[in-house]
Amino acid sequence: MITTIKPIETNFRGHKFRSRLEARWAVFFDCIGINWMYEYEGFELAPVKKEDEIYMGKQIEGQLFYLPDFLIPSQNLFPEDTYFEVKPTQNLTLEESNKASRLAYHSEIRCCILSSIPNPQHRDELFDLCRLEFQTFYPSGWDTQQCFCQCPVCGRFGFAYEGRAARIKCGCDHNGKEKSNATSPELMRAYHIARTIRFEDFK
Ligand SMILES: [Zn+2]
Repeated sequence: MITTIKPIETNFRGHKFRSRLEARWAVFFDCIGINWMYEYEGFELAPVKKEDEIYMGKQIEGQLFYLPDFLIPSQNLFPEDTYFEVKPTQNLTLEESNKASRLAYHSEIRCCILSSIPNPQHRDELFDLCRLEFQTFYPSGWDTQQCFCQCPVCGRFGFAYEGRAARIKCGCDHNGKEKSNATSPELMRAYHIARTIRFEDFK
């Protein structure tokens, strides 16, 4: 008999999340104080017409419907429009990667893939997890080794390659240095709460 693992729908702040992991990421966003929109808008996405194929040169023909999980609109504490898609792992199917790359291309907003919440008890593991797992699709191209980070100058948050704070679009001067700041106390606290919150308390 074939059984499938069914995600647990989770209620939090008036939203019904399709999985508990999605709800935990919503908690993370809340903890660092940024506004998010869940399943805000769906799109019919045409194939990308471009010379440099943006995901491994493979494309599915025809339109794909995609309802991304989170839209984080550019705001004071997170100064860059970003879509976040939550997946159990970063091993995306061809359709999933096509959807994310098409969304980024057509909307000109990056689409970042999140999976399990990093464990602040294991900082080395956290860094490895971010380095190895989280990936981002840009309007042109894609990249891995993405994670949340915080600007040590102004305290704003971003999502950048190796958590390099200088890549946050806050305009602060980092003296030309590209240091990682992916394990700030605020981020560690938010990861901890997101991992341990009991959603039963919100019903
Ligand atoms: Zn800054």
